[in-house]
Amino acid sequence: MQVYADNAATTKISSHALQAMMPCFEKFYGNPSSLHTAGQEAKEVLEDARARVAACLGCEPREIIFTSGGSEADNQAIISAAYYGARKGKKHIISTAFEHHAVLHTLNRLEKEGFEVTLLDVKNGHNVTAEQVRDAIREDTCLVTCMYANNEIGSVLPVAQIGTVCKAAGVPFHTDAVQAAGHLHIDVKAQNIDLLSLSGHKFHGPKGVGALYVRRGFPLTNVIEGGAQERGKRAGTENLPAICGMAAALEDACAHMEENNAKVTAMRDRLIEGLSKIPHCALNGDPVNRLPGNVSFCFEGIEGEALLLLLDMKGICASSGSACTSGSLDPSHVLLAIGRVHDVAHGSLRLSLSHCNTDEEVDHILAEVPQVVQTLRDMSPVWRDLQKGEREYIL
Ligand SMILES: *Cc1c(COP(=O)(O)O)cnc(C)c1O
Repeated sequence: MQVYADNAATTKISSHALQAMMPCFEKFYGNPSSLHTAGQEAKEVLEDARARVAACLGCEPREIIFTSGGSEADNQAIISAAYYGARKGKKHIISTAFEHHAVLHTLNRLEKEGFEVTLLDVKNGHNVTAEQVRDAIREDTCLVTCMYANNEIGSVLPVAQIGTVCKAAGVPFHTDAVQAAGHLHIDVKAQNIDLLSLSGHKFHGPKGVGALYVRRGFPLTNVIEGGAQERGKRAGTENLPAICGMAAALEDACAHMEENNAKVTAMRDRLIEGLSKIPHCALNGDPVNRLPGNVSFCFEGIEGEALLLLLDMKGICASSGSACTSGSLDPSHVLLAIGRVHDVAHGSLRLSLSHCNTDEEVDHILAEVPQVVQTLRDMSPVWRDLQKGEREYIL
């Protein structure tokens, strides 16, 4: 049995999205910037996609900028707000310690340019609060950037409350909603969000395309210079097939959100309950405010990489930490941020589900993971020391 349980890394494109893309290759291949009929037809398709994306977020079409993905949208949102703040003498930015690297590395770069960054610690080991944001805001704060939901441990942040706090303080609020879009309710006006990033491939759309919502009037800085596409704010010929695929996927995900989430949450809870029975393990992330598809555990005495390889041999595609960090030996910054010590953080497993998964697949995971964990523990010198009492259990 093949089980794909790595939907936080990327998802399978839906047939709905694929079908929406095909006419862009075959019929609407004109350049939307061209003045001839072929170009203007493509332009119409582009603007239709923009209106669809905007409708899913509760904003106006003109407030949507298409990008190459979530990373680019994060970069542009943060750099724009920072440079806007700097023009008014404000150079302090608030974020959290468990953001995606697209946010954290952009903040590192701004620090080198003289900005000051406050990273909120992850309270109770699983989430941050709007009070933490409120307490961190200063006279010179030019941006609060907090993710909507965490990609590794699934915690869902109190975005609407953070939005209220930011609005009251007059500070722009950006949220990396890459894990939330298509999975959780978004209404940028009601939630007082000024800037929001999303990515097509996290909700069964194509890869290499994303969108940035920018509240009307907010001054954007270009990250990519060139032509006058996207109201002059993002140069480059629009990837029309991908944009149409993303718009169709987002509409589809939002239209079926309730039923998809009911199905996925039930599978998630069955996995969490079953895997919790493995001795000396711990659930990562917020047990209540949690992404419908996220299951994240640390198992003491084993290496996450070995766990992934053995699970792969059993037909299960999972992840340890984020896809970006699993290539390196450093444990995930997210697991360290929630207070997991190095040894424990190394033994992490993330299973991320979508509505494409089935109950039979969940049964397969529940049958294999405990066995594989035991196999690895049987070979582990650390586990032997723990069992002999020569080392103390942490979990
Ligand atoms: C996947 C992801 C990104 C990056 O999106 P890309 O489209 O792959 O660049 C950013 N933030 C979060 C939370 C993600 O899960």
